[in-house]
Amino acid sequence: MTLRLSFLQKLLLLTLAPLAIAQTTTILLVAGTAEREVLADAKRGLGVGAEVVGEFLGSRQSDLSRTVEVLSSDFALREVLATGDAPSIRSALDNHAQRIGADIGAFIALDEATPISTDGSLAPTIDEDTATISVQQLGGASFQVVTAPVRAPTTIGHLTFAFRIDQRLTDRLQSLTGVSVAIAQRVSDEYRSVAASTDGERMPDAVLLEAKASAGGDMVQAVGDDRDRTLVASVALVAGQGDTQVLLYQQTAQAMAPYHSAERTLLSLGFGLLGLVALVSAWLASTFSGRLSSLTKAAERVARGDYQAPMPVRSDDELARLATSFGRMQSAIADREAQIRHRATHDPLTDLPNQQGLLDVLNKYGAAAAPSYALLSVALARMENIASSLGRSNADILLRRTAELLRTHAPADGFVAHTGTNEFAIVLPKTDLPAALEVATALDERLGAGVPLDATRMPMHAHIGVAASPVHGEDADTLLRSALVARADALTSNKPVSEYRCGRQDHFARRLQVMNDLRRALAEGEIQAYYQPKIDLSTGTLGGAEALARWIHPTLGFLAPDEFIGAAEESGAIIHLTRYMIATVITDLAAWREQHPNLRVAVNLSTQDVTASLPDFVATTLAAQGVPGSALTLEVTESSVMEDLTLAREVLSALQATGVHVAIDDFGTGHSSLAHLKALPLDQLKIDQAFVRELASNPEDEFIVRTTIDLAHSMKLHVVAEGVEDEYSVRTLAGFGCDYAQGYFFSKPVPRDEFERWAQAFEPMHLEERRGEQRPFSSAG
Ligand code: C2E
Ligand code: CA
Ligand code: CA
Repeated sequence: MTLRLSFLQKLLLLTLAPLAIAQTTTILLVAGTAEREVLADAKRGLGVGAEVVGEFLGSRQSDLSRTVEVLSSDFALREVLATGDAPSIRSALDNHAQRIGADIGAFIALDEATPISTDGSLAPTIDEDTATISVQQLGGASFQVVTAPVRAPTTIGHLTFAFRIDQRLTDRLQSLTGVSVAIAQRVSDEYRSVAASTDGERMPDAVLLEAKASAGGDMVQAVGDDRDRTLVASVALVAGQGDTQVLLYQQTAQAMAPYHSAERTLLSLGFGLLGLVALVSAWLASTFSGRLSSLTKAAERVARGDYQAPMPVRSDDELARLATSFGRMQSAIADREAQIRHRATHDPLTDLPNQQGLLDVLNKYGAAAAPSYALLSVALARMENIASSLGRSNADILLRRTAELLRTHAPADGFVAHTGTNEFAIVLPKTDLPAALEVATALDERLGAGVPLDATRMPMHAHIGVAASPVHGEDADTLLRSALVARADALTSNKPVSEYRCGRQDHFARRLQVMNDLRRALAEGEIQAYYQPKIDLSTGTLGGAEALARWIHPTLGFLAPDEFIGAAEESGAIIHLTRYMIATVITDLAAWREQHPNLRVAVNLSTQDVTASLPDFVATTLAAQGVPGSALTLEVTESSVMEDLTLAREVLSALQATGVHVAIDDFGTGHSSLAHLKALPLDQLKIDQAFVRELASNPEDEFIVRTTIDLAHSMKLHVVAEGVEDEYSVRTLAGFGCDYAQGYFFSKPVPRDEFERWAQAFEPMHLEERRGEQRPFSSAG
């Protein structure tokens, strides 16, 4: 609204103010000049009037004198006058007065003191021999009196006629001049009005004062105050006699009257125009600002996130164009926001809903207390290796195809999300646990059958955790965690599908803590290397040791590798742990060099440790401590080298080049055969304890162990048997030609000090003469 008001005000100000100023100036200018003109005109008119009146009075005067003179020489009248008979004289005078328009007639004989008159009051003054004219007061009225001598032939008396000065005269003069006329006469020192024309209003007193001042002059004067001014011109009624004056006057107000009415018309026109302009600008402003404010409202709606409301487009002017571009902007914003929202809830690679999208759906299910539904958490295995061997772009293609596969082969009402780089989740509505497990197994088989890549199909392996609501969690968070725990179980037990087992939550939490704490533990020396001896079966003496990690956790206490190695592998911290172990072992080896110059110590490697940078690290650490590479053995498992054979071959060869031995650990548990391992540079083979521990009671194990030893020897590999728990096994193994034995029968893995004491106290064992040829190898690691 503020916009509207201020805009309206501005427009009104801009249009009305100049107009009003122009109008006012015009009116003032016109008023000024008009008033001057009108007054000058009026003055001129009065001056002309005064002249006309003067002429008129002069000729009337001479007319009257001539008339009376002619009468005085009339024979019949002289006869009557000569008789001296008053009644006849009065009757004759009356007749003649009527004839010439006089009001009173009188005759005074030369020798008489009393005149004979038609009206007793007229007393002619006889002082001249010719006709005289004067003004006289008779009985309260004023008269113009004309007297002439009567000669027969000598003067016998004087004849007088009096003409009343009244409205007839002033009206006559008024009609002659067109202005108001009054006649004023002096009485003692004051002038008073004796007659006034009927047209005028009451004569202003000032006019009489002026009469006195001018005393017969004919100048036009303005009298009275500013508001009530009167223009006056005066003419002596009888030339030369200032006592009686004819006053012509006009009030300026009257003169200005026609002008004032014109001025009123002008003013009302002006105001009308101003009003019209005001109305038009108000109308313009209100439509304009009305449209602006609806645009403003529309913009505010957009700001609130409402992109649907149409922009107000009326007519086809600049505002309409503004509204149209506004509309375009609105839909552009709407599109972009939709894109952003889509991007926030979808994975850019596969365009599947992401973790947020998954949470939204799970929360919806949770809030609606939906009947049983299930969640599958899918982690693709070996993706790192695929990426490093086939390249990132092929890995991305595989991820996209896998997403496609999951979407097409998941039940139609299932919701598939891409929740992490190599992770997917599938929500299955109206599905119980057994049905969900079936879906998971079917999907795993589909993945195993392969995903198309170029002309071939790439088998994909996954670990799928299955959790069902409500048994494994009623809210999104719990169910999600259950599915993740189940998936972690699938991973550790190396099964494709695993359901959530109740009670695993604690284990999971502990695992999380372990993952979290590992780096700190390494920095603060909570991880220790324990040593387990390996006995050289050809001599019965100490041949080497295996270093095994132990963690003395400040709150969880003593932790065996089972508890943290898996977690460290998952979190990626294993690389740091392994390097820490290698460094620790090399330091200990340096200390033991003098006493046990031939001691070899083995360190375990995980899959992630087998990287191109490992040989360098090992070589540098060895050199720093002055320990030869031959003092160190590294144990790898089949699975850790089979994933990327090429890389493994490179890394292991480089290690061997520095003198380090490489052992294949847990042999017999994996799927690969010795033929596979042939391709790798190996020095040693460790028969898994599963075949060794029950050697005494299990003839089948005996057979496996014996053939494995022979096969290994044929490939020029040393053989270590681990998990040796009794003397019988030691002797059997020695009898089979096994090179080294490791197990609780000799010692558990023990801290470094304890290991030193054990080595000190160890009495070499006496073993049977070995069958067959002399072993070509020296001590084991
Ligand atoms: P592994 O390399 O096969 O280690 C041998 C395991 O067998 C050790 O378990 C050891 O204590 C146990 N053992 C030795 N002799 C006997 C016996 O006579 N009877 C029985 N029942 N067991 C015996 P540990 O120390 O719990 O280690 C378990 C696994 O953890 C190791 O298996 C190894 O794979 C891994 N590990 C241990 N330390 C490290 C390490 O520093 N780095 C890596 N990457 N893995 C390690
Ligand atoms: Ca080992
Ligand atoms: Ca082993």
